[in-house]
Amino acid sequence: MKVGVIGGGQLGRMLALAGTPLGMQFTFLDPAADACAAALGEHLHADYSSPEHLQQLAQSVDLVTFEFESVPAETVAYLEQFVPVYPSAQALRIARDRWFEKSMFKDLGIPTTEFADVLSQADLDAAVAQIGLPAVLKTRTLGYDGKGQKVLREPADVVDAFAYLGNVPCILEGFVAFSGEVSLVAVRGRDGEVCCYPLVHNVHHEGILHLSLASDQHPLQALAQDYAQRVLNELEYVGVLAFEFFEVDGGLKANEIAPRVHNSGHWTIEGAQCSQFENHLRAVAGLPLGSVEKVGHSGMLNFIGSIPATADVLAVADCHLHDYSKAFKPGRKVGHVTVRSESEAQLKQQIAALEALLSS
Ligand code: AMP
Repeated sequence: MKVGVIGGGQLGRMLALAGTPLGMQFTFLDPAADACAAALGEHLHADYSSPEHLQQLAQSVDLVTFEFESVPAETVAYLEQFVPVYPSAQALRIARDRWFEKSMFKDLGIPTTEFADVLSQADLDAAVAQIGLPAVLKTRTLGYDGKGQKVLREPADVVDAFAYLGNVPCILEGFVAFSGEVSLVAVRGRDGEVCCYPLVHNVHHEGILHLSLASDQHPLQALAQDYAQRVLNELEYVGVLAFEFFEVDGGLKANEIAPRVHNSGHWTIEGAQCSQFENHLRAVAGLPLGSVEKVGHSGMLNFIGSIPATADVLAVADCHLHDYSKAFKPGRKVGHVTVRSESEAQLKQQIAALEALLSS
């Protein structure tokens, strides 16, 4: 089967690493000359909205999926005329826009923080009067890794905040005093079957995911699955979807969804029976889904900007290094490591050893 992937970053690369043993072949559409997935398939080096290249992609593959949500929804809608695309343009349209996404949570009865649409500084002033401070102003689209957002703590922060984010459509969100952040990676097949991995506890540094720990029978697992199921069914979703939540007062508040494989699911490559990457491909290809059961205890540590010496990483017990072969650059995700263990206490020690490498 020939799979077209919009985007050729590390997520595309890991999709190809999972799909190649299933006999799949990959073509990546990515305008970056150094797209790191290109090593594992054909690289269509072109803009996402070039009709000529979209035609070329549609004609050369059996189906198309995407590895990042900032693809223009029109690109996906155009492709849908010629080739099956999973998830659908409609799912992408909602998931890539924070206003549509949060409005959907509200309509489906999924708790989320108070929010308001902001199309001007005057809208922002009115929204702050309604929601209060502190609050978080976020661009409706294109934000990632803490980019495209500003925390507003006092009235002085509000002045010119709309211009600071580029005078583009935004939403204002009430600041959530959360006790933790968790995410649920779920997958829905073409036949509507849904499987969910164990909830993952996430720790961010400067807005970027630092550490993910797969939980054991988390008390909020069933609630998270219920919320995810509502969204997956509403969107008639096919593929992997990641759902990020804030833990508040023993319950969950939805933060956002990502319509793709997700960084907080990377641990599943070695830590689950079937990885999120393989399950995404199984789902979009209409194949039976694989088991989402955990294998022992697992965590995932991101390498941001650079990767410690390979020998030092691999000296830590049961560590699995993923070097994305990307140029090192501050703030850039260049690799990760999955660490596995028989016990939680031991896992903590292994993670501490890896964190020591980061600060050395
Ligand atoms: P996001 O891009 O929406 O995932 O936001 C990045 C990170 O900023 C989240 O993982 C949180 O740590 C923090 N954050 C986002 N929205 C809020 C909010 N409404 N209240 C408090 N912290 C937030």
